[in-house]
Amino acid sequence: MNCREFTEFLHEYLFGNLPAAERAEFEKHLAECPWCVAYLDSYQKTVQLEKAAFSTLEDKPPPADAPEELVQAILRARAQAS
Ligand SMILES: [Zn+2]
Repeated sequence: MNCREFTEFLHEYLFGNLPAAERAEFEKHLAECPWCVAYLDSYQKTVQLEKAAFSTLEDKPPPADAPEELVQAILRARAQAS
C-alpha cells in the first residue's frame, strides 16, 4: 500500500468498514510511514470537529483552531484519489 491508497482507505478504516486483508495492509503502511500517521491523526481531529459542529447547532462560533486548510487538503486528496 502506498500513501495514495492509504488516503483512499482512511475513511473506511475509521468507520470500521475495512475488510481484514486491507486493514492489515493499512496498518502495515501506518507502521512505516510517519506522514500517514500524522495524516490519520489530523483526519480524526477533523472528523471530531465535524461531529462537534453537527451536534451543537447553537449560536456558538466555530472553534478558533478549525483547520480549514486541512479540510481542503483532505477534500483535494479525496478528489485525486478517486
Ligand atoms: Zn504513507
